[in-house]
Amino acid sequence: MNPTKKVAFYTLGCKLNFSETSTIARNFVNEGFERVDFKESADIYVINTCSVTENADKRFKSIVKQAQKVNPEAFVAAIGCYAQLKPEELADVDGVDLVLGATEKFKITDYLNDLTKNDFGEVHSCEIEEADFYVGSYSIGDRTRAFLKVQDGCDYKCTYCTIPLARGISRSDTMANVIKNAEEISVKGIKEIVLTGVNIGDYGKGEFGNKKHEHTFLDLVTELDKVEGIERLRISSIEPNLLKNETIDVVSKSRAFVPHFHIPLQSGSNEVLKKMKRRYMKELYQDRVSKIKKVMPHACIGVDVIVGFPGETDDLFLETYNFLNTLDISYLHVFTYSERDNTEAAEMDGVVFKNVRAKRSKMLRGLSAKKRRAFYEEQLNTERTVLFESENKEGYIHGFTENYVKIKAPWNPNLVNTLHNVKLTTIDDDGLVRFNFIENFKD
Ligand code: SF4
Repeated sequence: MNPTKKVAFYTLGCKLNFSETSTIARNFVNEGFERVDFKESADIYVINTCSVTENADKRFKSIVKQAQKVNPEAFVAAIGCYAQLKPEELADVDGVDLVLGATEKFKITDYLNDLTKNDFGEVHSCEIEEADFYVGSYSIGDRTRAFLKVQDGCDYKCTYCTIPLARGISRSDTMANVIKNAEEISVKGIKEIVLTGVNIGDYGKGEFGNKKHEHTFLDLVTELDKVEGIERLRISSIEPNLLKNETIDVVSKSRAFVPHFHIPLQSGSNEVLKKMKRRYMKELYQDRVSKIKKVMPHACIGVDVIVGFPGETDDLFLETYNFLNTLDISYLHVFTYSERDNTEAAEMDGVVFKNVRAKRSKMLRGLSAKKRRAFYEEQLNTERTVLFESENKEGYIHGFTENYVKIKAPWNPNLVNTLHNVKLTTIDDDGLVRFNFIENFKD
């Protein structure tokens, strides 16, 4: 294997994909490859794909084209969820040489002995049942925060979702390995770790290769909070039925866990929730929100919601709209339902026209802007901590408070990746928040 080969990565999708790309990239470097930016000329381009992204196929093709334009001779490999779900489709894309499924992606360097371009991509996929083992990963160096994978796969059967088909059964890292990874991250000067996975509330399942729960998500939160050197811990997203009141209490009293919860709701209509085979009714969701706001009034609550699910009539959509409007939440992530092969929902009656889906999505994005503005206004004149990010965005540096308020300040490289106590003052026209330093910040 020629050690000076250059490799570049492109990641689509979620925090979990970013944590896995970062780990795979470190493996390449450990094996003597040189990592370069995706815009640069490389011998190998690795694209970590997503099956949830809208137009995933179009996005993938344009990224392959981008790589081919820089170096037409380069070897192009596709990994990730889309590669697991539709390997032949990706292998057929002009310029693709290799497609690896869920069990092979971490062993990609084994497939790179011969970098001769193929007319048709070589596929090494698998039956998803074989992806029953766990590989740990975390991202480092790409962003201010590190994404720490603690769990993979999912045993739920939500009728619109392909993730269990792309990532397999629910399984978890061992508690010891999660703690080791968190310690490794913290000694590298990272101030914030974001816990990621597919269904992280199910943490503990499959920790030792069986279906039993040796540990729970509450155990994970409790143990991670003890790890020295980590300033902030953020829970990326957690199912409402798996976010226990005890966990909310522990977070409210914890040293490092921040008061920010991202909780998928998907619909505010119990009738639609049943069709989605979600594992809760809206009343449980309401209880979780009230509980959080009771013990952490300044907490930020983000909500995933799907519009245009089959059978979602105008009345049922309004039920969702009104439910969200009454909830004390901070912002929405709005997803427009789109049919996915091999899902139950794709066969359901009551298909909602695309233009109606788009109209409903627009309404909820309007509601999200209103909620975020109201939440930010509530935070003005309060004292918070801010973690500054690393990019100079048109002369400004951005950052987030512990409760996920986005702030801005004139660009200052000395602020990069630093934590400061501030008092939030005003909201700018672009919706970002200004502040005053509480402690005297010397340049
Ligand atoms: S909980 Fe449901 S939506 Fe989430 S990954 Fe599992 S099956 Fe998909």
